[in-house]
Amino acid sequence: MTSSQVELPAEVKPDAATLMASLHLMPTPVPNPEIKYTKLFINNEWEDSESGKVFPTYNPATAEKICDVQEADKADVERAVKAARVAFALGSPWRRMDASERGRLLGKLADLVERDSAYLATLESLNSGKPFLTALFVDMQGTIKTLRYFAGWADKIHGITIPVDGEFFSMTRNEPIGVCGQIIPWNFPLMMMAWKLGPALSCGNTIVLKPAEQTPLTALYIAALIKEAGFPAGVVNILPGYGPTAGAAIASHHAIDKVAFTGSTEVGKLIQEAAGKSNLKRVTLELGGKSPNIIFADADLDLAVEQAHQGVFFNSGQCCTAGSRIFVQDSIYEEFVRRSVERATKRIMGSPFDPTTEQGPQISEEQQQRIMELVQSGVREGAKLECGGKVCPGKGYYVEPTVFSNVTDNMRIAKEEIFGPVQQILRFSTVEEVIARANDTEYGLAAAVFTTDINKAMTVSTALQAGTVWINCYNALSCQSPFGGFKMSGNGRELGEIGLREYSEVKTITMKMMGKNS
Ligand code: ADP
Repeated sequence: MTSSQVELPAEVKPDAATLMASLHLMPTPVPNPEIKYTKLFINNEWEDSESGKVFPTYNPATAEKICDVQEADKADVERAVKAARVAFALGSPWRRMDASERGRLLGKLADLVERDSAYLATLESLNSGKPFLTALFVDMQGTIKTLRYFAGWADKIHGITIPVDGEFFSMTRNEPIGVCGQIIPWNFPLMMMAWKLGPALSCGNTIVLKPAEQTPLTALYIAALIKEAGFPAGVVNILPGYGPTAGAAIASHHAIDKVAFTGSTEVGKLIQEAAGKSNLKRVTLELGGKSPNIIFADADLDLAVEQAHQGVFFNSGQCCTAGSRIFVQDSIYEEFVRRSVERATKRIMGSPFDPTTEQGPQISEEQQQRIMELVQSGVREGAKLECGGKVCPGKGYYVEPTVFSNVTDNMRIAKEEIFGPVQQILRFSTVEEVIARANDTEYGLAAAVFTTDINKAMTVSTALQAGTVWINCYNALSCQSPFGGFKMSGNGRELGEIGLREYSEVKTITMKMMGKNS
């Protein structure tokens, strides 16, 4: 048994104070991290944009510019697609490569990411505003684990042989789709990149990836590690740039065979439309959510309050899975609200590099303003603002942890994705009622139920229309389990074995048996 498998007795488990005291043993942020890469990564080379344009990238905690980055547009997408097509051509080093070697390269990439994790976590924190320790322990670990998981799959993606009429022999091959366009958001820049690169490379595709314009820096550093790992030129191309220009050029490109997108439902619709209007490229979408979190009166209240709090406030509320509709059963409603408000008011906001910080800034002023507009709509529509509800004075795009009680289903704050630190607490009475109300949304990404009654847990989790349902936990994601949305939360699944299906085409090969003894 390894030490990581030993379940420590409760009395020797380190508490928060002990963990804080041992912080000096943990990796620390790299002071003033050098920004090494700001160009486009095409065909394993660093290139300027054809237009000569650059765009600024900011530190959301201070609103200060970090640096300028080369801005990809249509002409650069053209160059990157060309490189990716050559890399994918039959007979290329990538196509001829032993599948085990593909896995080894992905594993090497995971090792390099792990080697540089203190630097990468610093850069992620600087550019996205998430706390350094969260970047280090959640984002970096999730990134490394996902790459390793898909490295392991590379040489285990088998077809099947099929019993057919004895005169024939029939089998399937799982082949890579081709050039994959991948467009990712700013809330988990590194993790979203790993969710996209891992399965696509494991299956043998080539890639043109566009990071979000707000957070291009870690994606470019990963590009350097891809080259260092030894991936052939053109297999991965990284193009920082804006959505309506570089992103749209990817979605509508005739020589891109598949587009994978994570972001807003609004843009997801544009991507699907562009794919349909161009070459009917394969489309997978991971979009918005307005996830219900149902707390029954028999739940462990301490657990439910803390998990509901983390479920909505984690990453400054900037999660597609945010449990932002919390349905609480009548008899515990007041107590749940009281404890939730107490917890939210204790939430520590501050510099992402302060180890005690739980909540950093929002990504941008635009997002901050959108959150405030929705908060004001909640007040106008009659919800009770229990705490927060304001932006924080000073530099950076901070928003106070905000809790609303007496929220009803028709309010905007109960219907629209807020993408900020705003908790809505609604009241319910019966199982049937809460199932109907929880499902009464155009979204279906995630949901949770808190109860100590197994029957209720199973009844509700079976009835909820969501791609992921958590029971007595929230945001418990793992790279081995599929993730994706019902309804307008998306198409297709990422992660897990099922995630591989989205990056391969199944080819049936059937042969006439020429011998007499078939
Ligand atoms: P948000 O509103 O949270 O920024 P978006 O859905 O706009 O989320 O952005 C997610 C990703 O989609 C980013 O990489 C962005 O540049 C890209 N994007 C935005 N608009 C388009 C578009 N019209 N076509 C393709 N990609 C886009």
